[in-house]
Amino acid sequence: MPLSIPDETHFTISTYLKKAQKVSDSLLQIALPILPEDMRTRLNAVYAQIPAVSCAGCDTPGSCCELTDAEYNDDFATMYPLYAVEYINITDYVRAHFDPKKQRELLNTVEERPRRCPFLTPEGGCSIHPARPLTCRTYGILNQVSQVNATAESARDKVPWQWISSFLSTERYTVCPKTKLKEADKVDAHMQAMVSLEYERELIYMSDTLNWLDADRRELFQQITKKTHPTRWTWGGFNALAQKPLKWVKHHFANLWKTSFLGE
Ligand code: SF4
Ligand code: SF4
Repeated sequence: MPLSIPDETHFTISTYLKKAQKVSDSLLQIALPILPEDMRTRLNAVYAQIPAVSCAGCDTPGSCCELTDAEYNDDFATMYPLYAVEYINITDYVRAHFDPKKQRELLNTVEERPRRCPFLTPEGGCSIHPARPLTCRTYGILNQVSQVNATAESARDKVPWQWISSFLSTERYTVCPKTKLKEADKVDAHMQAMVSLEYERELIYMSDTLNWLDADRRELFQQITKKTHPTRWTWGGFNALAQKPLKWVKHHFANLWKTSFLGE
């Protein structure tokens, strides 16, 4: 038998819930500073160098934004690495384009390595397409692994070997034979930027320059990690540090960091 709640009590509870909701919504609005305009311009200048591709006609849309069992077991992660400057850019986008319920859902996601990207739509699209991070923009630009090898070969003696090695070990997983290149004229410069870590260095610089965590969280992060601030992580990792109530962070963050292997 359902429990009957007296009307008066119901009024009190629903008023309380509405108030709590309003407080929670306003916290969503002020939880993080908005990315300064000069930083956004700088970030967009990096993104503008990346050749656009089309996924029209793909028979498995969004499959690249979800991990297979094998990928999950091999420690792959979707939407990774995500730089702090990109994280703030995306939270701005989320606040501006999603209703409060969806904002709460997205900003409360704290799983470091979900199998499915939280921004993947049921139709296989990206719900934050204009603000998606570097790692998603560079996916599928090359159609064949041989193109990755050719770029590495052309960079030999021009950049440190460790950079080439890192490029080789990551970029062969970003090849998609089903995309169609829309800006072929940008590809050569883009590949050189990738192998010489130009984008990465710029995003690290921006992420390290931004003083975006509040003093309490910054101090807590420093005590636990012995680092001054997080530079790159995942959507869920950053959320756990920046979006959860401070009490929650004080209670859970140390354990979360201990089990994290993607936070830097
Ligand atoms: S990157 Fe490839 S798999 Fe992913 S949606 Fe585009 S065409 Fe499909
Ligand atoms: S942010 Fe968008 S493009 Fe990137 S993994 Fe998620 S759904 Fe895919």
